[in-house]
Amino acid sequence: MGSIRVLICGACGKVGREIVKMVVSQDDMRLVGAVDKTCAGQDIGQLALGNQVGLAVEDSLEAALAASSPDVMVDFTTPQAVGHNALAALSRDVRLVIGTTGLSSAQLEEIRGLCASKGLGAVVAPNFAIGAVLMMHFAGIAARHLPYAEIVELHHDGKLDAPSGTALKTAEMIAQARSERVAPPGEGTPSRGGWRDGVPIHSVRLPGLVAHQEVIFGGLEQTLTIRHDSLGRGSFMPGVALAIRKVGQLDHLVYGLENLLDL
Ligand code: NAP
Repeated sequence: MGSIRVLICGACGKVGREIVKMVVSQDDMRLVGAVDKTCAGQDIGQLALGNQVGLAVEDSLEAALAASSPDVMVDFTTPQAVGHNALAALSRDVRLVIGTTGLSSAQLEEIRGLCASKGLGAVVAPNFAIGAVLMMHFAGIAARHLPYAEIVELHHDGKLDAPSGTALKTAEMIAQARSERVAPPGEGTPSRGGWRDGVPIHSVRLPGLVAHQEVIFGGLEQTLTIRHDSLGRGSFMPGVALAIRKVGQLDHLVYGLENLLDL
């Protein structure tokens, strides 16, 4: 079997550079395209690895798709760019791995519909860290048995949105799983963070942090804390690699990395 041909959109970004490093180190993957608004013309290997790989960054996705015939486009760009990028890739029958957060539900449904009509796979995941996906899964189990739950999410001070997408998703999973809920004191009062489905979320923004979350459950005279820490952007790479490998076997859009894991 030949290598999976990978084009990275947002290749010069913080996560994009990690993906460049990951892809060039895999025997079954080949980096065929690197697209970004910045650094056009520069060698992507020089930028991400410190040594040349003979592939220049392009600023036109359409030109890069036409020139490189990728099997998969990986997108870690911006909420403003991702929708257009996804449609451009699908119009050329290129499968998608999307980590960019902030796709609207209308955009997601449009991409889902196109994937279904073309029989093309896509993986869209708000969190590619396998440990974070497990944390959410375990929180769903704990919510069936412990009626109190609060979430504390902690991120670097450059993160603009609060609560995080992962915290909101965790709260939804807790709400779906629980049979009993005890209303916390001060329900609905404002703080940094917010509420989702009756679960309070506290958002901490401090320099030096990457992405961390604690889910604290309470029952009679006991607490259970489930905690996940992303210590660096490498934490997303096993999940991204898994999605690149599995997306070729899919004929529809899959939302959430948990659907690719045997949980
Ligand atoms: P970043 O460092 O700002 O990187 C984004 C890169 O995309 C920048 O170089 C940006 O260029 C470029 N870009 C913007 N518009 C583009 C376009 N139309 N075509 C090609 N490239 C474009 O951000 P990051 O920290 O890597 O994060 C990227 C995205 O991934 C964010 O949405 C973040 O929330 C998400 N994320 C997801 C996960 C996950 O597990 N799913 C994990 C971490 C981050 P300019 O700087 O010139 O705009």
